[in-house]
Amino acid sequence: MNTKVQYDKMTARIFFYTFGCKVNQVEIENLKKEALNAGYTISEDLSNADIVVINSCTVTDKADKKYHSLIRKIKRNYPDITIVTTGCLPSIEKNIENSDIIVPNEQKENLFHYISHGNSSKHTDNTLINDENAVNSSGKTRAFIKIQDGCNSYCSYCIIPFARGNLKSRDLHSIKAEFEDKLREGYKEIVLVGIHIGNYGKDTNVSFSDMIQELVNLPGDFRIRLSSIEVSEVDDKLIELFENYPRKICRHFHIPIQSATDKILSLMNRNYSVSEFNQTIKKIRNKLGDVNIGTDVIVGFPSETKEDFDNTVNYLYHMNFGYIHVFPYSERKGTKAAEMKDVVPLKTRKERAKFLRDVSEDLKFSHSKKYFGQKVRVLVESDGKGLTDSYLAVNLLNHAEKNTFVNAQIIGINVDGTLMGKVIDE
Ligand code: SF4
Repeated sequence: MNTKVQYDKMTARIFFYTFGCKVNQVEIENLKKEALNAGYTISEDLSNADIVVINSCTVTDKADKKYHSLIRKIKRNYPDITIVTTGCLPSIEKNIENSDIIVPNEQKENLFHYISHGNSSKHTDNTLINDENAVNSSGKTRAFIKIQDGCNSYCSYCIIPFARGNLKSRDLHSIKAEFEDKLREGYKEIVLVGIHIGNYGKDTNVSFSDMIQELVNLPGDFRIRLSSIEVSEVDDKLIELFENYPRKICRHFHIPIQSATDKILSLMNRNYSVSEFNQTIKKIRNKLGDVNIGTDVIVGFPSETKEDFDNTVNYLYHMNFGYIHVFPYSERKGTKAAEMKDVVPLKTRKERAKFLRDVSEDLKFSHSKKYFGQKVRVLVESDGKGLTDSYLAVNLLNHAEKNTFVNAQIIGINVDGTLMGKVIDE
């Protein structure tokens, strides 16, 4: 790796670019904050920047290609800019061409040190997430707090455990302190994010539910939303918390099923069967009534037959999911699944994905219909728009102050499943 120049922090302008998941988005916000603290200027325009920091994603081969194509373009159009690469890719690809500075994920907290010294880190030992490094925010109404990093599950299609390493839970006190900061800043909804949030605390002596209990005990009018959580981590204690704090914990789960056939689940190295998944969903519904449960499905995984796919579709209808995030299977070099035979043709993957997206629209509309005539609590996110705790968008027909909770009577449902509501008090 070459070194270009030693930067004068007072004048160096950094352009930030991120690929990939919510965690990457949260981390880039955090890096921006750190850049400002370190004395750099943030540039909104690549052509005016001295440095570009790219937070890479390596979840599929396609993601790698996108990164390489971007970096080639930057190199071609802005030959003087210093390119800094961090994120998941450096942990997987050892020699990234065209990047002047490479900072592996686990060294992100030292990113500005590497920039100011113009060198790369090749250390791959995992260090605990630094408190400051986990700070992040986005928008005024909703903030995101990263509670852990890494994953120990090794699903056969996923490169993340290799890219981000094993589970590293963040210290509860620092999560709490950041949570309180966000409340003081005026955020009303706080989303707990991570790579595998339900595993929180398995490497420390605080459980996921204990952590949430601490947060809901904090005073104030706010709500907590969980990002994606694995079915095996939705235990009785967690469901009880949802039951006990209906105002403070959003009645919304996102639980990836990925496939509704045991054969495919086993090939994916997922740690549950369809019937176990069923039992948990039923338990949630028995205890919490009509919560919104969304899911992820990968279609066209190796060996998935038409019959397997049809079974999955029937199951999704049967379980009344509120929506589905659909992913056509995409090979990732270095994973077990990428070596599997019986590959489903790309065209079939695309067709199944399209079909399932239509199913998702149907399910979303059916779920939304249940709200007709009901009174819902809405967090107003912009003029005329808000979100229920159950993750349904509401178009508000009369004025309501941004970043406040209001009650609305649902008087209509749009074809895309969004609700139309009339504010009945503020
Ligand atoms: S649980 Fe599976 S899919 Fe999710 S990050 Fe871990 S290995 Fe990847």
